[in-house]
Amino acid sequence: MTITEDTSTDTPEQAEFRAEVRAFLAANAKPRQEDSPFAINAHTSEAEAREAFETGCRWQRTLFENNLAGLTYPVEYGGRGGHPWHETIYREEAARYDVSSGFIAATMAMLLPTLMKHASDEQKAYYVPRMLSAEISICQLFSEPGAGSDLASLACRAVRDGDEFVVTGQKVWNSAAQFCNWGMLLTRTDPDAPKHQGITFVLVDMSSPGIEVRPLVQPTGASHFNEVFLSEVRVPVANVVGEINGGWAPARTVLSNESAFIGGGSGQSLFETLRLLAERFGVLDDPVIRQELAVAYSREKVLGFVGDRIMSAIRRREVPPVDPSILKLFIAESKVHSGNLGMRIAGPAGQAGGSEESRWVQFELINRFGISIGGGTNEVQRNNLAERALGLPREPGYDKTKPWRDIPRS
Ligand SMILES: Cc1cc2nc3c(=O)[nH]c(=O)nc-3n(C[C@H](O)[C@H](O)[C@H](O)COP(=O)(O)OP(=O)(O)OC[C@H]3O[C@@H](n4cnc5c(N)ncnc54)[C@H](O)[C@@H]3O)c2cc1C
Repeated sequence: MTITEDTSTDTPEQAEFRAEVRAFLAANAKPRQEDSPFAINAHTSEAEAREAFETGCRWQRTLFENNLAGLTYPVEYGGRGGHPWHETIYREEAARYDVSSGFIAATMAMLLPTLMKHASDEQKAYYVPRMLSAEISICQLFSEPGAGSDLASLACRAVRDGDEFVVTGQKVWNSAAQFCNWGMLLTRTDPDAPKHQGITFVLVDMSSPGIEVRPLVQPTGASHFNEVFLSEVRVPVANVVGEINGGWAPARTVLSNESAFIGGGSGQSLFETLRLLAERFGVLDDPVIRQELAVAYSREKVLGFVGDRIMSAIRRREVPPVDPSILKLFIAESKVHSGNLGMRIAGPAGQAGGSEESRWVQFELINRFGISIGGGTNEVQRNNLAERALGLPREPGYDKTKPWRDIPRS
């Protein structure tokens, strides 16, 4: 999403904050290089991925040390206690620099608002400042081999033993779990309750004995995902977020924030790159290509406007005025449209060519579906919209009221 900057409308307080951010960035960050618009942003080895993760954490720590992390979070939890406009101004200014908190920006966007809503005061006081300073980096341990779209059927078992839960099970597709030092983990604590009612949400120290993280190596050489095996891992009951057996509520908050975050996009304009591609391939005057470019432009604008509405509500810790599933669905469909359009513009050169433009087209084409799956598939987002936004009858399911233990599992 691109941000239109108009500093002339700044109030004196906003102008003062903008000056502070400008001075901070000038002193601490490298201006964004004029990279080719066709540069591919992908890691080709595990070492490169780790370096990117750690660079992101270092940047987050610098923000924290300069009172620029958690701009809308309360001062007592390490934030600045500011307004959504603080975020907007920061993003406008930072867009000119080569800076990002990397992977942890995603889990902060998912978990911090969840903690503010569901965690105890002690938990907020412990976790929020440590997340904002990147001392704690948290991966998402939700999906299992038998529980993806139907997440509530998860089987990772937690049995209470005094002040601890003993957790045994397997998680999968856990992004950056090999680098993070904590995890947000969904466990089954009451197998006799219906599937949504026997789940507990805990925070787990990834160095706990019994946790084994196995990276899933991709053809690129890097491992975006991992399998995580838990064998009798002891987790303090004090790490439960929300109620015991009431973990579905914080899980839903995480998923909704995840949709909003993914839907917010990377800040880069795909339309601009597609327009340039059409220029390079000499098809900018082709009426069909022009029409498709107009579609890409319109989609990007709509995403920007809807994204801003949703994110500013989340920053005010209000219920978003639009269901974030619509944003996630729309960006996933836009990504497929852009990938296909790139291919259409480049033609056979897009498939077989070795030029920078051709490699960009191939990358976009291959990667156009990932976003349709991570954070909940398009079909799941459509179900969410049908039930939550349109008020249609719930998807029929024979297993919603049965004890989880009695539901057949593969
Ligand atoms: C890039 C990426 C990052 C990810 N990161 C994480 C992470 O950090 N942590 C984590 O826990 N997980 C992560 N995941 C996993 C992701 O959440 C799951 O892949 C996703 O929820 C789908 O689950 P599944 O793969 O088991 O597919 P399934 O649930 O088996 O779905 C298979 C197909 O059936 C369709 N389907 C299923 N149910 C329905 C239905 N009720 N109605 C209509 N169609 C349906 C789906 O849409 C899909 O097309 C990530 C995935 C990706 C791609």
